[in-house]
Amino acid sequence: MCSEKKYVYSFEEGSLELKSLLGGKGANLGEMTSLGLPVPPGMTVTTEACNLYYESGEQLPEFSREEIRSYLTELEEKMDKSFGDDNNPLLLSVRSGAVISMPGMMDTILNLGLNDQSVKGLAKETGDEKFAYDCYRRFIQMFGEVVLDVEAYKFSRKLDSLKEEVGAETDIDLTVDHLKELIDKFKLIVKEEAEVDFPQDPMEQLITAVEAVFGSWNNKRAIVYRDAHDIDHELGTAVNIQSMVFGNMGQDSGTGVVFTRNPSTGENKLYGEYLLNAQGEDIVAGIRTPEDIQTFKDSLPEVYEQLVEVTETLEKHYKDMQDIEFTVEKGKLYLLQTRTGKRTAKSAIKIAADMAEEGLIDQDQALLRVEPEHIEKVLHRQIDPEAETEVIAKGLPASPGAAAGTVVFSADEAEKIAENGEKVVLVSLETTPEDIHGVLAAEGVLTTRGGMTSHAAVVARGMGKPCVCGCDEIKIDFEAGEFTVGGQTVKEGERITINGGTGEVILGKVKMTEAKLSQECKDILQWADDRRDLQVRTNADNGTDASKAFEFGAEGIGLCRTEHMFMAADRVPIVQRLILSESDQEKRDALTELEPIQCQDFEEIFAEMEGRAVTVRLLDPPLHEFLPNLPELIEEVTELRVKGEKEKLKEKENLLRKVKNMDESNPMLGFRGCRLGVIIPEIYEMQARALFKAAIKLATEEDTKTELEIMIPLVSELAEFEILRERIEEIADQLLTEANLELDYKVGTMIELPRACMTADQIAQKADFFSFGTNDLTQTTFGFSRDDAEGKFLHEYLEREVIEDNPFITLDAAGVGKLVNLAAKSGRQANPDLKVGICGEHGGEPRSIALCQEYGLDYVSCSPYRVPVARLAAAQAKIKKS
Ligand code: ADP
Ligand code: MG
Ligand code: MG
Repeated sequence: MCSEKKYVYSFEEGSLELKSLLGGKGANLGEMTSLGLPVPPGMTVTTEACNLYYESGEQLPEFSREEIRSYLTELEEKMDKSFGDDNNPLLLSVRSGAVISMPGMMDTILNLGLNDQSVKGLAKETGDEKFAYDCYRRFIQMFGEVVLDVEAYKFSRKLDSLKEEVGAETDIDLTVDHLKELIDKFKLIVKEEAEVDFPQDPMEQLITAVEAVFGSWNNKRAIVYRDAHDIDHELGTAVNIQSMVFGNMGQDSGTGVVFTRNPSTGENKLYGEYLLNAQGEDIVAGIRTPEDIQTFKDSLPEVYEQLVEVTETLEKHYKDMQDIEFTVEKGKLYLLQTRTGKRTAKSAIKIAADMAEEGLIDQDQALLRVEPEHIEKVLHRQIDPEAETEVIAKGLPASPGAAAGTVVFSADEAEKIAENGEKVVLVSLETTPEDIHGVLAAEGVLTTRGGMTSHAAVVARGMGKPCVCGCDEIKIDFEAGEFTVGGQTVKEGERITINGGTGEVILGKVKMTEAKLSQECKDILQWADDRRDLQVRTNADNGTDASKAFEFGAEGIGLCRTEHMFMAADRVPIVQRLILSESDQEKRDALTELEPIQCQDFEEIFAEMEGRAVTVRLLDPPLHEFLPNLPELIEEVTELRVKGEKEKLKEKENLLRKVKNMDESNPMLGFRGCRLGVIIPEIYEMQARALFKAAIKLATEEDTKTELEIMIPLVSELAEFEILRERIEEIADQLLTEANLELDYKVGTMIELPRACMTADQIAQKADFFSFGTNDLTQTTFGFSRDDAEGKFLHEYLEREVIEDNPFITLDAAGVGKLVNLAAKSGRQANPDLKVGICGEHGGEPRSIALCQEYGLDYVSCSPYRVPVARLAAAQAKIKKS
């Protein structure tokens, strides 16, 4: 050998620690071998050898071939057989195995070492001629496909036509003579297609097979797979060379795959299937239908016992659910592979909780085993995986879960039909705040326009309703009351099902499985609560959301927006009168009308939260959002002018003048938030009165003292905050004195402008709390308007890796996060009692939650359906940090 470096490891030398060298399959074969489990002996050629293969011009250098040969000699001794022997041949499997498993990248070659001579030896040695020739024809087929690049169908077509010709139903029905004939035909195919004779030299077979596996690392589908899964192209694959065991030696032989627990339900019971008298690939290829592993007990009871025992050993050793491949040769069990089993969300949660209860892992490990997405998935109703579905269109998966109902095309219609107890799916171009009642009434929403952050998507996610967006294949004909897609027409009143997790639109009503928090899920969330530092609050604007969030474990409301309270159909006219008022009296009248309605809203929410903290944000959006849309109004006025309806025209012209007056070129940075509060104080005063009246009512009548936190939006200057705080305190003093009640309350601000972050030390002197409005803070820090960015260039920015993540989904640690951290630190320095949290979509996103943990915030606040996700993510952030 001319190299000191080692490129081959026997399974005895291998272990899990060497995974990066041996690949997943090889490392686990080594690990199982050292556990004393029955693994057919073999060796692993390392991932470094793969790189060597590429460096040497796509071939293995002589010294590594030599290394393989020397390990092979060892293997021959161990097996008491010799490779290429005419009488007692050692046969091998050659299997790929990368560090990160890449299923389907490359096929396995079985029965390597057979040739025209040794096949006779195998027949004599086993006394089973049919078996030997069956092995040989399989080998030629696999080697031909994998190493010699012959297309698979060339072989399978030949096999099929022979079966037909001789009247054989399955492969097993072929006789020895048929198999011999097939072998000759296969060799001819190789000769024609690959222009070589089928190689008879076993060593040549072996080396070219190993090289072919290394070569497959860079085949097109492997490269595409790695790109899609972010796997490093430099890693290389390992190759396992293993002595064969045979599951196709009669009814006391077989092969199978088992999971130590049920991968779809998590039930702690051996799960899987097997085939008697078969080689491994028969199960996958579906040539015969495998049997349920539970019946294995009856066919081979002793082997079954042993299988149960080794699977238990493996699970205890790996401390996780294992996916195991095994083969039985003449009553003797062999293990061919083990790996951590893939599982559904439901199963992941159950297995983690069960294993912690069993003492196999501790609670922290259990918490880390469950992915936050798993929690999200089990919270939503799903389409029964067994159900047959007719998918008619596909849009964006905007809000997970499945919904079925009759098609309706307007929010009003949705509300009307739903009132009669019928389930509806609202189908529309897009939705606006005025459609809220329809969204509320519907089971789910399907829009033909708009993206993942469109109004429909955001609102649906907030409500935990399934939503498919931007499904532009669907053409709606509102007049005819139908939509068409791909030649199909669906009429109003017909049923559809949408899958908000995949974006699929399905014809008819499909069977579903209900979402219910299992006991295991509750346990996991309870452990998460015990472990986390961050408080989890919710964003809720009404009693329904508040009660849902409370049920999901929210510890308070971190953001109650008040604009939706202005938006409801019965209130818009009052709000419009307020905005358009021409005298103080008119204004006061409108406010007097609004106040009790607001008060009622707050009472409802406070009652749901049973005394927990509720942060209410005073009115934030610019006022013209409550007025008719300008272009539409212009159109209306033009029409009236043409028609000459004088009376109505005058009224509308007046309205138009006012709307024009309020129009802004950049409303996001315009007359809104605390700026409104400073210039038109009456609105905030009305809100403050409503808040305190509601809190007082609850305290006196129900003996429930709400922890009221009043939040002033969009502050960038201490003076803004001071002016408004003073007004609120005056109102509070007056009302509380009148009621003769003491009530602690806080006044704080939403930090959503860079200047507020920079002046946080000043603002904190007067503020009781900060709540980071990271959506606006991201917009103002990047200088992106979210809708414009996501609609126009952000997508391409992400694709071209100008930026790594969408900052509206994951908090931007390098910029926005830095500001948050700075403001939190300097704010607390100025005011040690300052409470600091974040609200907005980031508050329910695991990576952003981890940042909040790092910055030492007090709480995160997110939509009700994200609350359980946030509880887990907060615990995980804490565990990972310590
Ligand atoms: P994959 O990664 O696609 O699962 P494997 O390398 O595990 O490929 O091989 C596929 C099948 O080939 C295995 O399930 C097993 O049944 C069979 N096999 C592999 N090696 C051997 C062997 N040494 N003896 C018998 N069968 C084998
Ligand atoms: Mg396998
Ligand atoms: Mg804001």
